[in-house]
Amino acid sequence: MKDPSCIFCKIIAGEIPSVQVYEDDRVVAFLDINPIAPGHTLLVPRDHYATLPETPPEVLAALMAAARPVARGLLAATRGEGFNFFQFNGACSGQEVMHLHFHVIPRRARDGVSFQWKQGKYREGEMAALGERIRGAIRRV
Ligand code: 5GP
Ligand code: ZN
Repeated sequence: MKDPSCIFCKIIAGEIPSVQVYEDDRVVAFLDINPIAPGHTLLVPRDHYATLPETPPEVLAALMAAARPVARGLLAATRGEGFNFFQFNGACSGQEVMHLHFHVIPRRARDGVSFQWKQGKYREGEMAALGERIRGAIRRV
């Protein structure tokens, strides 16, 4: 499955150059062209799925299995002390390329990288009620 308008499909097909660091039959990893930190890598399924909930479980399992050697290699090669591992779903969340991908970003203490998010608080009873609603919704999925 390939989307002809998708930049990551084109990278995976070799139509657009990339610096690839890992591949197997389901997954490819290549360096992000605009790294948050040196070695910033994108872990991507070969087939085109826009977001995580649209991706079959066996593809997600292959991505998680590949994350292990990719992260270990990245840390070794960049002398990273840790890493961030995250992804976006939907434009509202910051997703720009609509082909599922995980960011793997090597980190070191005091590396100057920062992610700003502002955490809030629930009102009395709101957290439990919302939890109940979400549990019900998950059971119906
Ligand atoms: P997101 O969709 O999660 O916001 O991020 C997409 C990521 O893809 C960005 O970090 C961006 O730098 C990277 N990116 C976009 N176009 C290209 C490209 O042509 N080549 C590579 N290697 N990375 C890209
Ligand atoms: Zn694609």
